Amino acid sequence: MAVVGIGGLGAAAALELAERGIDRLGLVDADRVEISNLHRQILHETADVGRPKAEVAAEKLRRLRPSIAVEPSIERLTSPGAAARRLAGYDVVIDATDNAAAKFLLNDVCVDRGQPLVHAGAIGFHGQLFTIVPGRGACLRCLFPEPPSEEEAGSCRDAGILGPLAALIGVLQARAALRVLAGTADVDRLLTFDARTLELREVSLRRSARCPACGPRAAARGAAAAHPQSKET
Ligand SMILES: [Zn+2]
Repeated sequence: MAVVGIGGLGAAAALELAERGIDRLGLVDADRVEISNLHRQILHETADVGRPKAEVAAEKLRRLRPSIAVEPSIERLTSPGAAARRLAGYDVVIDATDNAAAKFLLNDVCVDRGQPLVHAGAIGFHGQLFTIVPGRGACLRCLFPEPPSEEEAGSCRDAGILGPLAALIGVLQARAALRVLAGTADVDRLLTFDARTLELREVSLRRSARCPACGPRAAARGAAAAHPQSKET
């Protein structure tokens, strides 16, 4: 299992996975602990400010469960190649990143590799998650073919996030990832939670035939790239 982004969502997801007995856990994050993060990042403390989040989280999880193999990686995944290399060998990927570019990159790489991905986001009082099992259910681009504009993304960044909400969504991500391992993944099902009204909603999703990541055209592109001569024969 690999957790990308060890902030509010990722710290809670990693802790839950460690407590549930996962043997091997990859933690990927390039950032360092900041004092402003501490209210929502349950593995980080004041004494950790300035240290890499992935390293701090790995230390805490090893202390909690010495038998766990935690693999911290102080790295920002900015290209499909780097992401594919870093995530190779993990059975499920948890997207606990905090920006749209990273979320779309993880979606595309995991769809391309056929690797299950648990997507989530939390902003203000609102959280959401869904499980992507490539070939079996909708992916992020089935819902949103393109990432949001810089203007939209900026307004989300300014909205802040309720600390306990991030932890709740992170724990739910871990549970969703465990369901993938158990063969009971919930695909085509978006869960949304509103912390103001305590309303939990379930929205049915459908794969889009026009999806630029998992639709038939994307599959044809992938096949053509894998077998460049096949068009001529
Ligand atoms: Zn798709």
